[in-house]
Order: sequence, then C-alpha cells, then structure tokens
Amino acid sequence: TPPAVPRPLPARPDLSIRNLTFTYAPADAPALRGVSLEAPVGKRLAIVGPSGAGKSTLANLLLRFWDCPPGQIVLGGHPLSAYDPEAVRRLIGVIAQDTHLFNGTIAENIRLANPQAGADAVQAAARQAHLHDFIAGLPQGYATRTGEWGLQLSGGERQRLALARALLRATPLLVLDEPTANLDPLTEQAILATLHGLAPPRTLLLITHRLVGMEAMDEIVVLENGRVAQRGRHADLLQTAGLYRKLWDLQNRTLVASGDIAP
Ligand code: ADP
Repeated sequence: TPPAVPRPLPARPDLSIRNLTFTYAPADAPALRGVSLEAPVGKRLAIVGPSGAGKSTLANLLLRFWDCPPGQIVLGGHPLSAYDPEAVRRLIGVIAQDTHLFNGTIAENIRLANPQAGADAVQAAARQAHLHDFIAGLPQGYATRTGEWGLQLSGGERQRLALARALLRATPLLVLDEPTANLDPLTEQAILATLHGLAPPRTLLLITHRLVGMEAMDEIVVLENGRVAQRGRHADLLQTAGLYRKLWDLQNRTLVASGDIAP
C-alpha cells in the first residue's frame, strides 16, 4: 500500500540495505536473511550466487513489487516505503531477463517511458546498446513494426532493446537482472563496457550468476541461501577459498569444455 502522503523523490538516491530479511509466505523459509549492503550513487555492485540464492527477490523488493519490513531498504536517507512505488520505479531502469515488446515500431518501443525523446536520442541509445547496426539493416529501419504482430526479435535483441530503453531514460539507478544471458561472449563484453562507461555514472546493481566483467565492479556480494556468504572485489574473492572461487572454477571449466574459449 502506498503511503498517504508520499515523500518527493530524493535528490541523491543513495541506496542502503540494512539487515534485510524477507519471507514470501509465513510457512516458507526466508528468501533473504540479514542482507546488508551500501550503494551510494555511482557504485557498481554485483549480486552473484547460484540460482535460488535470493538475487531476484532482492531486485524485486527494491522495485517495491513486494513490501519489506520498514527501514530495511533506505533510499536517499528515507525508508523505501515513504515513497510512492510508481515514483520509485521511475527512478530505476530495469533490464530484466525477458523484455516485453508492445505492438509498435522499434523506435516507439525504445522510446517507452521517454516519449519526448527525438530520433537522434533514440539512435544514440541504440548505438550504445549495440543494436543500431541490426536496426539499420532492416528494410524499414527504426520504423519496423515489432511486438506480437510484427518482427519477432531474438532474446539477445530484446535484451539490447531493453538496454537502449534504459539508457534513453537516464535513470540514476540501473538494475540489471542477468542482462547478458542471451548474448554471445563478444556482445556481452561490449555491453558490459557500455554499462561501465556511462556518464554521468549510474548506480549499477548487476544481478547475475555469470561471473563476467566482475573486475570492473566496486563490490561483489555473494549470496547463498538468502545470506551473504562472501563480499569483496573480484581479485580478492578469487584468492579466497569459498563459494565465489568455486563458482568461478565451475564456470570456466564449463566454458572450456563447451569450446566457448580456448583452454
Ligand atoms: P535467484 O534470483 O538467486 O535465483 P530467487 O530470489 O528467485 O533466487 O529465489 C530465492 C528463494 O525464494 C527461492 O527459494 C525461491 O524458491 C523463492 N521464491 C522466489 N520467488 C518466489 C515467489 N514468488 N513465491 C514464493 N517463493 C519464491
């Protein structure tokens, strides 16, 4: 339930999560247990861990799809619950695993939530998202119709469209839920480089089970069964025996075995 008199959005949306515990239903085991993290504006934070660890739950609480106990998520110095949920969502760009396209042109789909954006801005965002060349190669370019009755885009193209959308909105916070899941390794690297090079810097909350581009993150929080198992920077976590090292070894062994990279 939204507050009766919501606070105006904060000028500096520093994010702070304090001892967050969340249970979906009374009978369930908690999906998150005592998770704390600090993400001042501009920080690049990765939330990693095996599936079921609680990563998406954390993202969804942030977007206020569910309410958590007051005071456990603090935005700009005030509890998240003090703001209007819709306003909070406008502050946060989301690149989810599956992106919904409505019936309309590709340009209209990129322009969603920023309808005033001109053609130049749409194209610049598509370039940054490494989608421009694909669109330019279509017979009708940006006017190509997509969605249910139009051109069907692949998972990777939809993900890049979601990125273009988010870039066009220029929100101070970006939540990326497995943003490179459907991309080939080269495009994945290019997209991560785009995200890390954004100006002005945005707070990045990168939720992933793929340990790629982790060197560029300011902090990596490793979740396991809803708890923070480890946290730190990539190089330090690799030096430590623990879950991160185990996930890293597993991932690289799988990559070598599947021929993705040379051994
Ligand atoms: P991850 O994103 O790391 O894969 P999730 O946040 O999706 O993990 O899930 C964490 C835990 O919460 C899991 O045990 C999962 O089964 C449970 N869970 C996730 N979504 C729901 C839901 N809508 N209702 C009940 N339980 C859920």
